[in-house]
Amino acid sequence: MMKKRESIISYLEYKGIDELPGVDRRLAEEAVAAASGAYAPYSHFMVGAAILLDDGSVVRGANVENAAFPSGSCAEKTALSFTVANHRDKRSVAIAIAALSGGALTAGPVPPCGNCRQMLIEEEQRLGTPIKIILAGKSSVIVLENCQSLMPLSFTRSNLR
Ligand SMILES: [Zn+2]
Repeated sequence: MMKKRESIISYLEYKGIDELPGVDRRLAEEAVAAASGAYAPYSHFMVGAAILLDDGSVVRGANVENAAFPSGSCAEKTALSFTVANHRDKRSVAIAIAALSGGALTAGPVPPCGNCRQMLIEEEQRLGTPIKIILAGKSSVIVLENCQSLMPLSFTRSNLR
């Protein structure tokens, strides 16, 4: 018998970085700072990501573009790859993402692309604990309690069994 099912996500929306609770605000500010490290000579769209580890340290990432466009890397992927490669003994608890366009923080939040969502979900499943996501824009900031909610019915390692 066919069943209709729904997947609903819930998230918090703030009116700006200043409205965030302290820990989230500091991580969002780290993401904004990280964006200035982007190498984006083609799009001029500079994205920064900041991952908070469970010891309180922060790993920054930025987008790195390439003349061969698919060779480039997103900010989230850069930060996550560095974290997994260098801090396997620590736990990622949150990631903040922000983007600069024309040198200024974008008005709205910039969500991670599908590839990065896929990578974030894998890390969340590897750890077995949620990774909070903070999408920081100038006039709107979205906070999700975990990465899985960004990609319902996602392909995961359990599908390989
Ligand atoms: Zn991406």
